[in-house]
Formats: sequence, C-alpha cells, structure tokens
Amino acid sequence: MRHWQKTSLFTIAFLIALFIGLIYAFNLSVKVTPLKNIEFSPGEQKAMAEQEYDSIKPKNIIIFIADGMGFSHMSLAMMTQQLEGKSSVWDEFEVRGWHNTRSIYGPLTDSEASATAMATGNSTNFGHIGMDKDGNTLENIFEIASANNYTTGIVTDSYIWDGSPAAFVAHSRNEDDARDILKQIAASDLDLIFGELEDLGEDDVPEKDESLEIIGKRFQLLDRSLELPKGNDASKPVAVLFDEDEIQDLSSTPNLPQLTETALNYLSNQESPFILFVECEEMDSASHSNASGRLIDGLAALQTTLELVMEFSKNNGETLLVFTSDHETGGLAAVSEDDYPNLQISWGTKGHTAAVVPLLAYGPGARYFADVKRNYDIGRVLKNLISNQSFQSQ
Ligand SMILES: [Zn+2]
Repeated sequence: MRHWQKTSLFTIAFLIALFIGLIYAFNLSVKVTPLKNIEFSPGEQKAMAEQEYDSIKPKNIIIFIADGMGFSHMSLAMMTQQLEGKSSVWDEFEVRGWHNTRSIYGPLTDSEASATAMATGNSTNFGHIGMDKDGNTLENIFEIASANNYTTGIVTDSYIWDGSPAAFVAHSRNEDDARDILKQIAASDLDLIFGELEDLGEDDVPEKDESLEIIGKRFQLLDRSLELPKGNDASKPVAVLFDEDEIQDLSSTPNLPQLTETALNYLSNQESPFILFVECEEMDSASHSNASGRLIDGLAALQTTLELVMEFSKNNGETLLVFTSDHETGGLAAVSEDDYPNLQISWGTKGHTAAVVPLLAYGPGARYFADVKRNYDIGRVLKNLISNQSFQSQ
C-alpha cells in the first residue's frame, strides 16, 4: 500500500470515528425512515348496499364532527378520562365503527372534501365545498331538511366559513372565498350559527364590521351572554360571532359546551324537528402543529360537549346522535418509550393521514350507520333519514 493510500484510509477512519463521537457527544440520533410511495387508484365512488328503512326514524339529528380526530385521538381521550370502573361517553354509543375518508382524488382528503361527502353523499376533490369534482353544485342535507320543515343549526369552535361547517350550507370551489361563503350563509335557510371570524382583512376575508353586517341582515346577532330572543322573536334566526381563537377550550367564555347547550335550547323550543351540526376543530389545529398540550385541552372540550349532547339524546328519546371525524391529522400515537407505564404522545406528520376514522351513533336510526363504509355513505344515510325519497349514487 502506497503512502498516500495509507494516509487517505487513515483520514476516512478518523472522520468516521469523529462522526460517531459527535453523535454520542451531542446525543444525536440518525433516523432512516423507509418511506415508499404507494400507488393508489383514484377514489372511485360506489353505490351503497341497499338499506331497508323501517318506521324507526329520528325526529331530530345531531351530527358531531371532530375535525382531524383519528382512533389514537379517541384512545387518548378515553385514557385521559381516567374513569377506571366507570362508564364513559364513548361506551354509550350503540353503533361503534369506522369509515374510510378518501376523496375522489385518492386515499387522502382535506376537510372540505370529506365534509362535502358527509353533507351531500358524494365524493369530491380537495378544496371543494358542496360541489362535485367538476364544480357542479351538490344538494346538502341542510337544504333537504329546510325544505322538509326542519330547523337547522351550526355550532363550531372554528370560523364559520371553514370547510366543515361551510360544506353543510354553502357551495364553493374556493375554500378561501370567505366573503362569498358568508353571503351564502346569509342567503340560506339556516336558523342558527355560532362560531368565529378569523383572518379578518386577509384576501377574500372581510373585516369584522362587514362580516357582522352580512350575517346580521338575516340573523339576530346575540351578545356573549347568549340570551336567546323570547316571545314572538323566539323563532328568529340567531347568530353569535366570536373573534379568532376565542372559543378554544373549556377555559373560554363561552366555550363549546355552553354554545352547544344554548343551540339545543333554541332548537328544541321550536315546533319543528331539528338538525344540529356541532364541530370541535381543535383536534385538527393542535395536530397540525403537533401541539400535545393543546390537543389534551381540546379533547377535554370535545368530551364535555359530547357528554352534553349524549345526555340530551338520552333524555329526549327522539334524537339521533352521530359522532365522527373528517380525517386523521398528525399520525398520532399514544406510546410508552422509556418510563413505562407513563404515556407519551408521538407525532408522525404535521399533515393529514389516510387512516380510517371513528363513526359512532346513538338513538333512533343509529343502526343504519353500521352499514357505512365510506364518508359519503354518511350523507346518503342522513338524506334517507330526513326525506321520503331514497338516495343512492348520483
Ligand atoms: Zn387539517
């Protein structure tokens, strides 16, 4: 071996030793994740198996969507309840299953596409609110409900033009066109809307005064005492609009459970049957930022609200409660690494995953949700429950 060969071998050996030494010295870990792109076919839409709808139909329906919540979020909620030996709200549901959230584009979805599937019974593409992949308007369950004399309401801890609530009331191919969605909400037959105004003044987002003016044209704007109109005004459409991130967790005043309780008071005082959409969006926001503490606070708000609507459904006896999610966010796992039996939260991504999500139902008509496989099946069952026609593939 020549001298220069010896020298370069020595240099290479020295550099490897230095590298290993640095890893130990700074406790760095080198992680090689075997990522592999898997080819998936587009999200083809199939007809749902024919269901026999008997006389058992709910008078009222509560649709509760936990944005970004997967089975690990649900497991964490159960664990943080620490109700050893006691029943938990999750155990009360008569149907406990799952659905596949894929969009027409493929195995992944966003809130707009998944909420549109649940609100209309049709699969669509990313960013499409109440529209199919080609931009054609899809009839949503709130429109059918209003035509069938239901009272309808939306409660969200997010902004009111966000994808999930918007898909139940508006039609837009541009998820960012807040002004247009606000005008559609104002022109709709919706009876109640409680939520936030966010990103005010940004592109296509009107300022607060303009937002209040648009919504205030048809809705009576309540103040934060949440006092509902009485007497002859008790059936007037009502709205409460909060600033960005004002309704975050149980420490907010008012918080999601209080808003939901007020909405149930308003709706159950009307003569007609009702459909209430409740959204807890905190799972998605906390999971996008991998913020474990915020996630735990969000789960507490979610569970308190869920306990409240479950209690309402049980006492009322004529109200179907459907709880689900639009997609999983964060690739969350509750793990135990070093200090068993303590739990740690581990995140796999800051985006959405293709994981299937929980679907739970309680009350009259709950059993129809046991046949659900894809997100759009939820919209089809809901359409069947609130109308006299039978809805299948379009
Ligand atoms: Zn998201």
